[in-house]
Amino acid sequence: MNSVLHLRCIDCGRTFSAEPDRYVCPEDGGLLDVEYDYDRAGHNLSRDGLASSPEASMWRYLPLLPVRPDTPRPPLRVGFTPLYPAPRLGRAMGIEQVYVKDDGLNPTGSLKDRPSAMAVVKAKESGASVIACASTGNAASSLAGQAASAGMPTCIFVPERAPLGKLAQMVVFGATVIKVLGSYEETYRLSAWAIERFGWYNRNAAINPYLIEGKKTVAMEIVEQLDFQPPDWVVMSVGDGCSIAGAYKGFLDMHRCGLAARIPRLLAVQAEGCAPLARAFRAGTSEFVPEPENTIADSIAVGVPRNPIKALSAVRKSEGTFVTVGDEEILSAMKMLGTTAGVFAEPAASASVAGLARAKEMGIISRGDTVVVVVTGNGLKDPGRATQAGGEIITLPPEISLLEDALKDRMAANGHPSG
Ligand SMILES: *Cc1c(COP(=O)(O)O)cnc(C)c1O
Ligand SMILES: [Zn+2]
Repeated sequence: MNSVLHLRCIDCGRTFSAEPDRYVCPEDGGLLDVEYDYDRAGHNLSRDGLASSPEASMWRYLPLLPVRPDTPRPPLRVGFTPLYPAPRLGRAMGIEQVYVKDDGLNPTGSLKDRPSAMAVVKAKESGASVIACASTGNAASSLAGQAASAGMPTCIFVPERAPLGKLAQMVVFGATVIKVLGSYEETYRLSAWAIERFGWYNRNAAINPYLIEGKKTVAMEIVEQLDFQPPDWVVMSVGDGCSIAGAYKGFLDMHRCGLAARIPRLLAVQAEGCAPLARAFRAGTSEFVPEPENTIADSIAVGVPRNPIKALSAVRKSEGTFVTVGDEEILSAMKMLGTTAGVFAEPAASASVAGLARAKEMGIISRGDTVVVVVTGNGLKDPGRATQAGGEIITLPPEISLLEDALKDRMAANGHPSG
């Protein structure tokens, strides 16, 4: 078996056995947290053991994951994504040590492959035959891909605004896709009804306690990739709040196992046009006010966040904070990340880069801090927005003289000698 002890309700503190399809506290509907025997997990998860592990995926942290070792796992390689030093990005922002964790390189192009792979394993353990979720896009496209790789059918609910790249993935992966002519909130409610009605496995991230356990592996990798010296700050964008809560859990679990001396401060980033959690954080409460979903960063356009308590408490306990960024800042951050680091991020992932720039300007993060910014989704998901991020394309007939003229102007504009 693994080192899981039980599930603990974050409201009433009662504990329950870790059944694969136990989602919320049976007493009061509170969210559950997976708790481990950390002595035992730490025994099975050591620096030396990790250094010699051949498992180049999220499953390298198996002793700290809530799955049975014998449950078949989806074959796609999820996690163990690169952590790039990004010195030019750092210089542009005035921060000495910036790293980019590129989770856009997961099989379906987002961090959501981590919880989706976990969902497929737990669905198999529970004996379910269909997995379902509501999603702003990436949870759905990743679930569709992970489930397809394991031969399980999916039914997926997305709001009408989901960008084309994500929709294309879902249909190619063979999911039953329900596009709801409404907001994410309305989409979520419809999915909850259908999941209950048809007894499907529920991959809705906030209420399924195992999904955060998949998400936490991004943090465990960051710790390992920095040679067990966690950075001062980790920057992530926030919608429902599950991803940042998952990252916090990953740092905490590494710390509890003696693999990390400290927990980094979390910089949580929301879009100005939809920032209920940032405003709740500033107000010092866990009660948010629902907001319209008014931003180009579709993956974090969540007006009614599903995981406010875990997200806000993660940021508070880490001694971190929230910042908000506008759509223009998001587009320029996308361009800046691409230009300085060669990493292509979708708008919600670019928001974290924009948030880092904002936090530096506000004096929250200083020049000497070590920072990891997490790119949660690949830019190819939404090329429409990316082309808006700017950058002229030279278009001309196939004539050498026109090419020479155009290049002369262009090179001069870019400061290159053109002779
Ligand atoms: C889902 C997602 C987020 C935010 O995660 P939450 O759990 O909703 O807070 C950020 N970026 C991308 C690309 C995502 O897909
Ligand atoms: Zn409870």
